[in-house]
Amino acid sequence: IRRMRNREVYIKEGYDGEYGAIKVFKDGESKDFTSQERLFAEPQAKYENNNKPKPLISFDIKAFQELKKEKLPLEKEEIPDPTFNLFSQIPDLTKDLNPEQKLAVDHDYGPALILAGPGTGKTKVLTVRIANLIKNSGIDPENILAVTFTNKAAEEMRERLTILLDNQEKALQVQVSTFHAFGLSVLKKYFSKTGREKNFTIIDEDEKRQVLLQSGIDKQDVSAISKCISKIKQELKSIEDISEKEIAGIFKMYQEKLIKLNTFDFDDLICFPVYLFDKYPKILSEYKNRLKWVLVDEYQDVNFVQYRLIRQLMPDENSNLFVIGDPNQAIYGFRGADVKFIQQFHNDYSKANVYNLKKSYRCSDFILKASGNVISASGGFLDGLHKGVKLKISENATEKSEAEFISRTIEQMIGGVGFFSMDSSVAEGTKEKEIESLSDFAVLCRIGRQMNAIEKALKDHRIPYQKIGEEPFYKQEPVKSVIDLLKLATNPENIFLKEKLIKKKIIKEMELEILEESIKDKQLSAMIDFIAEKFFKTEKVNNELLFKRLEEIACESKNNTEQFIRSISLGTAVDEWKPNIEAVNLMTLHASKGLEFNCVFIAGCEDGIIPYSLFDNKISDPEEERRLLYVGMTRAKNYLFLTHAKKRFLMGKEYQFERSPFLNKIETELIEAQKQEYKQKEKKKDDQLKLF
Ligand code: ATP
Ligand code: MG
Repeated sequence: IRRMRNREVYIKEGYDGEYGAIKVFKDGESKDFTSQERLFAEPQAKYENNNKPKPLISFDIKAFQELKKEKLPLEKEEIPDPTFNLFSQIPDLTKDLNPEQKLAVDHDYGPALILAGPGTGKTKVLTVRIANLIKNSGIDPENILAVTFTNKAAEEMRERLTILLDNQEKALQVQVSTFHAFGLSVLKKYFSKTGREKNFTIIDEDEKRQVLLQSGIDKQDVSAISKCISKIKQELKSIEDISEKEIAGIFKMYQEKLIKLNTFDFDDLICFPVYLFDKYPKILSEYKNRLKWVLVDEYQDVNFVQYRLIRQLMPDENSNLFVIGDPNQAIYGFRGADVKFIQQFHNDYSKANVYNLKKSYRCSDFILKASGNVISASGGFLDGLHKGVKLKISENATEKSEAEFISRTIEQMIGGVGFFSMDSSVAEGTKEKEIESLSDFAVLCRIGRQMNAIEKALKDHRIPYQKIGEEPFYKQEPVKSVIDLLKLATNPENIFLKEKLIKKKIIKEMELEILEESIKDKQLSAMIDFIAEKFFKTEKVNNELLFKRLEEIACESKNNTEQFIRSISLGTAVDEWKPNIEAVNLMTLHASKGLEFNCVFIAGCEDGIIPYSLFDNKISDPEEERRLLYVGMTRAKNYLFLTHAKKRFLMGKEYQFERSPFLNKIETELIEAQKQEYKQKEKKKDDQLKLF
């Protein structure tokens, strides 16, 4: 497909995709760049030292038209206003909001709860509200804390605020962060009250297990004990609260070890601030005095300790607490989140205003109804953007044919083949029905291991994709070891890392001193380069792209080693997601939370995958699994495919699953009858072959 080849070349040239992705017209309206415009605009964007394109301010319309005539004849596209300027025209903040959204944005003092379904603009309302507080109510940005679920979401919110406020400085003064990043900011200031030193580190799950192993815990118990420790921390229990003596002993020993190692584990980042706020009223009042406005996105997924933290900062009816969420989208119960906190908001703050939003700006009516069926909500309780097209359920023989189905469908849709040509019920003239770019597609999986087959098929079809797995790439080998070495070389006190790396034969004791010496005065990117060259030469050649991305992150941390290591410790897989690159998005259902795509495939809709039942030692909550499917389905704006396979090879075994019972809930009128297009086409091809 020619259009696709165009795009591939583009990616090879290193399109970054983060800037130049929107254009703002004179009247304040903003639109996405079409892919052709981006192709043209990108090389014009100025590159700064850190290799990131700067926003494009002017657009050479004549040259674009010429180029279009000569080289890009394939797309019918709108020509941008030649005078457009990215930052000079600021839209009226609440201009495009509907009356319900406006009401929520304009909520004045005291607690408020926004309860609304997917795509109703909750996150948008929260962002506009912050801009509005600053711009129209004169609130000092430093008095505002916005809590997002991922670092990526925080980054995006900050970018939106910069545009809404037309003022980057003010946008940066707002504290927009995840719970963990907020906790870290408290600990950076008050580490000494926890027995740590200034240059404390943060350990991840893997390192936590190492610490436990080195404290004499049996290998087979490490995983269970690690979970147990997390649970104790997430429930804010003290040693006295732990009834089992043995566990209490291990917990105490572990906590002491962390102090010795001058480190915090991931759970500590939130529970220590809560302890500090409880123990030192002065510290708490410092934060309460500063953070007078607190806004929390995805409140349905807070756990007890996060809930407590918010309660400490915002204890009563006078608190300016603004939380938004959707109980039907609660999917983190397995990590200790509890939907009851959003349900009891009204008990906590009896005078809270509750706002409901009724219109979905994302999903079509068909998608809203079908996803409503799955969670047994009265289908269609939200108004969709337009009627849309029916969804498609595809049954396949194996996981390979499922992957093949997905890849071929993407190929057909991007190639403009009217896959839905029989169904013309998408409102004429709405731009939404068009697939413009590979980034319009998402393939969502319940577990990371399902992705192997899909990746292979996408590769076979030469369809570029970006994969957001369960772990960020830098927590996977060989990049993980490079970072471990960097951590160790910059902090030789890190005994457990030292033991681990020597045991793994990555470094010898003697070499370590030489390494420390050699990188001492180097810049971060040079350090990484040195380590990679010296210890991972072949791996570097074989994983060129991974190492390049690592360098990019180093640049983003402004070559500050401490910041780099910390940002890596707080990172999750979805933080790596780039919204506008020309690639299909392959991600887990969990990672897709809050995002939206024109066309969504949910792979593995089987009884065993979703709901998932293959855990070794725990059972999943079927209601949470149902909500997870709901979250996945409601990521789709227009096209939704639910695929399943009769046989599936997974984790070295063959499984035969039934179709997911959740699919049976969907009214048949919403589902398009299976067309046999592929088979017929294939047959034709065979016939032709015979003729020759
Ligand atoms: P989720 O529950 O999935 O987190 P949400 O309620 O947070 O969804 P948003 O992501 O804020 O919804 O909005 C969904 C989409 O609808 C976004 O593309 C947003 O820009 C758009 N949108 C929201 N409100 C409006 C509006 N009034 N006019 C036009 N577009 C809107
Ligand atoms: Mg949202």
